[in-house]
Amino acid sequence: MLTARNVTKNYSNLPILKGVDITVSKGEIVTIVGSSGAGKSTLLHILGTLDTPTTGEILLNDVNLTKLKGNALADFRNRHIGFIFQFHHLLPEFSALENVCIPGFIAGTAKNAVREKAMFLLETLGMQDRMDHKPNALSGGEQQRVAVARALINNPDVVMADEPTGNLDSRNARELHNLFFELREKFNQTFIIVTHNEELAPLSDRQLVMKDGRIISH
Ligand code: ADP
Ligand code: ADP
Repeated sequence: MLTARNVTKNYSNLPILKGVDITVSKGEIVTIVGSSGAGKSTLLHILGTLDTPTTGEILLNDVNLTKLKGNALADFRNRHIGFIFQFHHLLPEFSALENVCIPGFIAGTAKNAVREKAMFLLETLGMQDRMDHKPNALSGGEQQRVAVARALINNPDVVMADEPTGNLDSRNARELHNLFFELREKFNQTFIIVTHNEELAPLSDRQLVMKDGRIISH
């Protein structure tokens, strides 16, 4: 479903990614680990079209993402790729429900359909009593659940998570990680997760180890 072919990335002529090949199947949960500076975030950003490779290509369901530009790229990304970051980046002046709805509104989906889907997702994530709360009235674990619901609102082909548990205590981290598996069971959702969490990283279908700009083990 998602394929990266011989992806390289240079920053100011310094090679950061040195030829990465990845294939991820629908419904797979893949974790990416490796020491700081190995290139994990850079790779995730390139897979998610937030950054462009220096050479190589990314294919998502046969669409060559490296050929998309400008509005077409932004629109494709919003519809097909969900993102979860270490810090949730929720908009503080909007409620949990509104935060989840926003990418759906941007995609131009009918407002009622977006609200229904957002409520369904928040219920699925155990947040039915928290929908009208603003982010700062929610706990860290709850905020991250809202971010997960927001990532899923447009039925993305793949969700990219960059240290999603990095700001959570170990219990909330474990719960969030379990949630990814529940969402895979329910929706056959695909996840690619960069993580430093040594307890959770092996709990995946596949663990990719990065070192010095390459994947050294699958
Ligand atoms: P990781 O996520 O594995 O810690 P990163 O992908 O964040 O690694 O970074 C890999 C290397 O690329 C680091 O040496 C980092 O300083 C460098 N790097 C990342 N982004 C940039 C950038 N925008 N410009 C220059 N160097 C960068
Ligand atoms: P993480 O800890 O998640 O890997 P980083 O601190 O490495 O995050 O990077 C945060 C952001 O800063 C990323 O968007 C990355 O591309 C950028 N970045 C990282 N290192 C550099 C650098 N040396 N020069 C410019 N931008 C960088």
